[in-house]
Amino acid sequence: MRPAPRLPIIAYHSIDEFGTSISVSPGDFRRQMHWFAQRGWRTLALSEAARLVLAGAGIPARSFVLTFDDGLPSLLTCAAPILAEHGFTATTFVVTRLVGRPPDWYRMPGPYRSTPLLDRAGLERLASMGWELHPHTHDHPVLPHLPLAVQADQIGRSRSLVQEWFGQSGTVLAYPFGQLNEDTKRAMKQCGMEAGLTLTFGTVLRADDPYNWPRVGSAWFKHSDLRQRLAVTGWLEKYIALRGLVKKGRERHFTTPTAETTRGLA
Ligand SMILES: [Zn+2]
Repeated sequence: MRPAPRLPIIAYHSIDEFGTSISVSPGDFRRQMHWFAQRGWRTLALSEAARLVLAGAGIPARSFVLTFDDGLPSLLTCAAPILAEHGFTATTFVVTRLVGRPPDWYRMPGPYRSTPLLDRAGLERLASMGWELHPHTHDHPVLPHLPLAVQADQIGRSRSLVQEWFGQSGTVLAYPFGQLNEDTKRAMKQCGMEAGLTLTFGTVLRADDPYNWPRVGSAWFKHSDLRQRLAVTGWLEKYIALRGLVKKGRERHFTTPTAETTRGLA
């Protein structure tokens, strides 16, 4: 039996030399993109990928989606030029209240807190290079720490602004911190969202719950072509599923709502 087609959605944040948990150096990033390009991989736009998966249509072989959460400034200065060299496009997820303002949310590493996120002009430049812009909520809270109505407001407001500002559909949301609960799924449905992306490791299969799509975190590519290959082809997740490793640690980290995780919205 042929294996089901898998769609790797890669999750990056920033391309820089800060060496934080969310950065990938420009040299590493170029190597990783070169790896895909040399082997004939092509980027799919996120909305197109979502459409194909949701329609149960086939995903073209060696297709992948590149995503960058938060709209950090290095997307314009570092990521976009390297992607253009390879003929690749990507998506960034916009925290609409903080466009052009410094990101100050829970657990954001220090080096980023003093530099504004891309403003509307910067995001428009990305869009002019073929990037898609999708919502990442209005305030970047931990959604499961909020009541349903507030979650729906965070998602709906962010989507409307993406539509209004950039004329894009904004139908796929990346959950802040990759976190969701059952109310999040209800809120997504209420807001007409097509799909939601987590930070749980894995590739997307046709049968997956569209509001709980996994991604391949860029950390899996670090210093190893072999790991990159195993991660995007689905072998690594089979191994991880077998071991039941990644998920438990993540869930433990987000059990207690605080003023920082709810950003004063609860
Ligand atoms: Zn984020």
